[in-house]
Formats: sequence, C-alpha cells, structure tokens
Amino acid sequence: MSRHIPRKRFGQNFLQDPRTIQDIVDAVHPAPDERVVEIGPGLGAITRPLLARLKHLHVVEIDRDIISRLRGQFSPAQLTIHEGDALAFDFASVGTPMKIVGNLPYNISTPLLFHLAEYGNQVTDMHFMLQKEVVDRMVAEPGTADYGRLSVMLQYRFSMERILDVPPESFNPPPKVDSAVVRMIPYDTLPHRAQDEALLAHIVQVAFAQRRKTLRNNLKGVLDDDGFTALDIDPGIRPENLSVGGFVAIANYLSKKV
Ligand code: SAM
Repeated sequence: MSRHIPRKRFGQNFLQDPRTIQDIVDAVHPAPDERVVEIGPGLGAITRPLLARLKHLHVVEIDRDIISRLRGQFSPAQLTIHEGDALAFDFASVGTPMKIVGNLPYNISTPLLFHLAEYGNQVTDMHFMLQKEVVDRMVAEPGTADYGRLSVMLQYRFSMERILDVPPESFNPPPKVDSAVVRMIPYDTLPHRAQDEALLAHIVQVAFAQRRKTLRNNLKGVLDDDGFTALDIDPGIRPENLSVGGFVAIANYLSKKV
C-alpha cells in the first residue's frame, strides 16, 4: 500500500513510539467485551493494540484515504468505521456505556472536548492525547493562570488526571508542541450539581469573557451586589479565583430567582 502523506488540516501527527502506545492502551485497560470508540484512528497506532485486547472496536474518522486503508486492513466484524466529523458524531449511537479514546486532532481539541462532555452520563471513562497546554488547562486548580472555562466545565462533570507527558519525537511528523495524555472519569454523583446546566455554561462563559476583569464587571446585568452578598462571594475577585462550587452556587441562585 502506498505511503500516506500526513494531512496538516486533519491534525495528523501519527504516534510511532511503541512505549507511549503501550502506556496508552494499558491506561485504557479495555476488557474484551467492552464497548470502545476511538476518535481518529489514523494509521492504526492505537487501533491495532486495542483490537488485540478487544473483540470489537468503533472508530470515527474523517479522512477518506485513511478510511479506505482501514477497510483494507480490518474486517467489519472487528472494526466498525463511522465516517465523518467527530464534532458532529452522536457517540451514544454506538450504545452505552462506552469508553472513548483518541490521539485527538489538536486543531479541534477544545470544541471536541465540549462536545464529548455532553456524554458524561454515558461514558465509563475517556483517555485522550492532547497538547500539554490544553491538559494543563483541563486539570488546573482555581487561582492559577491556566484555570478557565475549560477547567470549570470539565471539572464539573469529570475527575481528571494527567497520566503521561509525551514529547514531540514520539510522533511522525513531530508536532510543534509537547503533548500529554489525560484520563477523564465522570462522577457518579456530581460534587456540585447545577439545577440548570445550560445556565451554568452561560454563567461560566460570561464570567471568563474578560479574565482580567472582576466577577462584578463580567457578571454585570447577570448577578447584582445583593446576589454576591447572599452567596458570600467577593465581587472584587477575578473569575480564575472562583471554584467550580462557586460557579454552581451562582447558577443555582439565579435559577431559583427565575
Ligand atoms: N490515532 C492515530 C495515531 O495515534 O497515530 C492518529 C492520530 S492523529 C493526531 C488525528 C486523527 O484524527 C487523524 O487520523 C485524522 O485524520 C483524524 N481526524 C482529524 N479531524 C477529525 C475529525 N473532525 N473527526 C474525526 N477524525 C478526525
């Protein structure tokens, strides 16, 4: 089969380091009968060792050339190929519960994480390779420069752990940035439950619209000083200093008022 030329527009940096691949598959730890979906199988670096442990695997892939290669290499009994954009894919359509795994295309990682967060109730766990900088933001604690909308919205639903740092040489071609693997496990019981999750998402988005401004400024027209007092939240702090529980408290206060 002819050599595949990696496509930049699809974020194609193929894993080539056997140790990293092994560590990812060990971290996913699939049982033979588990339902697993891999996002962006590419040339099969993770697909093949996953299939060595699984009876069957689902993959979602956008690149037609790669899809025809996969069809030539794996039988439909082993591998179900969902052709198309992972951003628009209905992950629940494969059945639930499921595990999701992928060395993600870095150019769409943030919107993809927000899309995947919607399946929090239906996944057992998720393992992703991402830019290290994105993993830093996902796991960031309040009071740090990396803590923002992504941290709050993902930490609301998932317990997250960075499990591996991966240097550029582990890929072909090497990306310009360092990478890391993160594990996301949805909470059985949310530590802080928002009555209206769409409202929480809105509050968090507005609160971080201008990171350098205070909460009072960012939430102007949304939460007044009486609200801050009732919630015992200092309106003079910056959004990066409010915990996930604090954002949920604001959302729940506002949903009670409506
Ligand atoms: N899993 C392979 C590996 O580790 O070597 C490939 C990883 S590569 C970083 C990203 C993969 O995602 C590529 O196969 C690419 O074609 C695919 N991809 C890119 N954008 C996608 C999208 N929107 N939906 C589904 N797959 C996509």
